[in-house]
This record gives sequence, structure tokens and C-alpha cells, in this order.
Amino acid sequence: MIRYHAAWILPISEPPIRDGWLAVDRGRVVAVGASGRRVLSDGAEEVDLGEVAVMPGLVNAHTHLELSYLRDAVPPASQFLTWIRGVMQARRERADPRGAEILDAIDGAITEAVACGTAIVGDISNTLVTFGPLTRSRLAAVVFYELIRFNTTDPKGVVAKAVSELDALHPTERVRASLAAHAPYSVAPLVLRAITQAVDRDPFAPCSIHLSESVEEMEFIRTGGGPWRAFLEEIGSWDPTWVAPGGTPVQFLDDCGFLNGRVLAVHGVQMTTADLDRLAARGATLVTCPRSNGHTGAGAPPIEDFYNYGVKVAVGTDSLASAPDLNIFAELATMRALAPTVSAGALLDSATRQGARALGFDADFGTIAPGKSGRLLAVSVPAGTEDVEEYLVGGIEPDQIRWIE
Ligand SMILES: [Zn+2]
Repeated sequence: MIRYHAAWILPISEPPIRDGWLAVDRGRVVAVGASGRRVLSDGAEEVDLGEVAVMPGLVNAHTHLELSYLRDAVPPASQFLTWIRGVMQARRERADPRGAEILDAIDGAITEAVACGTAIVGDISNTLVTFGPLTRSRLAAVVFYELIRFNTTDPKGVVAKAVSELDALHPTERVRASLAAHAPYSVAPLVLRAITQAVDRDPFAPCSIHLSESVEEMEFIRTGGGPWRAFLEEIGSWDPTWVAPGGTPVQFLDDCGFLNGRVLAVHGVQMTTADLDRLAARGATLVTCPRSNGHTGAGAPPIEDFYNYGVKVAVGTDSLASAPDLNIFAELATMRALAPTVSAGALLDSATRQGARALGFDADFGTIAPGKSGRLLAVSVPAGTEDVEEYLVGGIEPDQIRWIE
């Protein structure tokens, strides 16, 4: 057994402990307490970590590791569709046919995520190419096999094929796999229903979708027209039998039976207060990625509303095609700037416990408590720090972070 002493311990499930101690045995937390600078005489190894805050590993609840090779390749846009076109162009220009560039970038991104204090990722993949690299890493993960299919005559077949590919993956306890839908404007209603049915086979599996991200999405769902309609026609994916549902994307997904407590709804930039009420009622988790929203032209998410309406909030960076790095601490600093009235403790809760719960890893991660993983972060904090939570949402760099255990 090792007993660690630190200037601060953040259990997340309770207020920060000043001059705390933490006992870890065989990789598991066995006890947490205060007034820890004195040595207890039970023979345990004593390690003084000094001026650090010990906290759970962070959860990046939404990223796309397979797009890491597009880092810095897609310029910021003032309209979402301009950014989408930028991604398509960068993909055409960059990927080599053997995919070595893609695989190298995935490995580099995983290393970066760990160095930034990430313990768990919710990773969106269209190819499942990230599954192998994740199993060889120290990250825990849910790899979401994301389906994009607006126009199909065989929605059940599309989903059944994806399920059979997932079944061939051999998930582990630490790296799991599930299904996701890309977005309400890119997945046909019957495909959405088939995805929900497939995910329902496992009562604990999470699901995900990009939701209410851009004004183009809102217009398309409301009217069936606008830039997204023109784009679908342009790329040959328009379905002439599709009828605009009217209303908002949240209403539409709810009418499809898609929204429930296992859904990670990503972005929510354009959500109305009625949408937020509905999301809270369904128990879905909203994953906010504010730096990506700024880069893609989606706009600034109403983060204070997310919390004020009682929505469960988790945090993601989105991909390196729209975020400068995979540092969730940097995402928290942007959230703090956009949402000055939300408590720092609530923001930290989102980046740890809420993400772990939404991805189904809360038995091991997300808080510091007896029985949970002892693989925790020690973040350097200046001596004399009074409000450690506020300090931690102010932007932490990788050189301030190390892992214990
Ligand atoms: Zn995304």
C-alpha cells in the first residue's frame, strides 16, 4: 500500500481536501482523508507529492482520433458548411493510400491525450481504425462506430452490417465499442430507429449523435431547404422521398425515439430552452466542445443554459480537424470564459464524473473514492493557491501534469 500526501485532493464527489492523503493498494483507492502531512505509523509507504492537486483522470467524451492527421489542415470558417467542405478537401489532399499517415497520427494523438491528463475517450470512428491503437494504449475508451446514411432503401441492413463488424472486434473491458449516428441531417429516420434498436440489445451501451450544431442543421430540419439541402443534392445523397419534420432537431430525434439516458448529444450550440428542457427530461448527456464550435463557424454554445436547465454536461475536444489540441483542461478554460457564472466545481465535474458516467466507466473512474482506480492525476499548483478548482479551470498545460500509479 502507498499513502500519497498532497496539497490538494479533489474527490469530485465532495469538496476539495486541503493537505489531504490518499491510500492506494494494488491500483485501487482504499481511503481518502484530510490532514495528511503527518506520517501514519501503519507501515505503508509514504509519498509526499508536494504542491499538487490530485484528481481523477479527465474524460474527453467526444473526439475523432482517426481525423488526427488533419491537424491544422482545415482553416477556421464562419459557416459550418464551409468547414465541412474544408474537411473534404483536406481529406482528398492528405491521406496516403496505405493509411500510414492516418495510423501514425492516431498513435500521436493518443500519446498527446494521455499527456494532457485524459483517462477515457469517447471516440467517433467511421472506419474502426482506432480500435487497435486504443487497445494498445493506456486509455479507456468507447469507440463509437458512426453511421452516415441519409439515402438508403435498406436501413435495417445498413445497421445489421455495422453490428456484425462491431461483433468481430472483440472489445475488452477497457476498450469497448458501440454505435453512433452522425447527425439528424445526415442519417435517415429509419436508420436512426434501427441504431436505437441495435444499441438497446445491451442495456448499458452508450450511443451518440452530433445535435443542434449549426444554423444550417436547424434550417434543414425545420424547412427541408437551405445550404445543407443543396449540399446533399450536390454530393448525390439527397433522398427525394424525405419530408422535413419541422420543429427542432431535438424534437425530431425525440419523435424518432432516439433520445434517452444513454445518448451523448454532442454540441447543442443552437438548442432552444425547450430543447434543453426536453434533453434534461430524457436524461441525455450533452457533450460540449466549445473550441471546435468556434473553429467550425457553429458559434458559441449556451453553456450557462446547459447547467441552468439541469442538463447533464460532459466535455469533449472534438477532432484535431477543428481543435488545436486534445487538452481537456484547455477546453475547460474556454468553458470558464463562456460561462462565468457556472461554478468551477461543476465544470470539473463535467470533465470527470459526468463523462465517465455517460461512457459507462463510472465504476472505475470519474471520482476519487474507495474501490476506484488509483491511476490519478497530480497537477502542479502554485503554493498558496486558495481556490484550487478555479485554478484548474484556468488552463493547465501538459508539463504541469503527471500520472500517479
Ligand atoms: Zn464530432
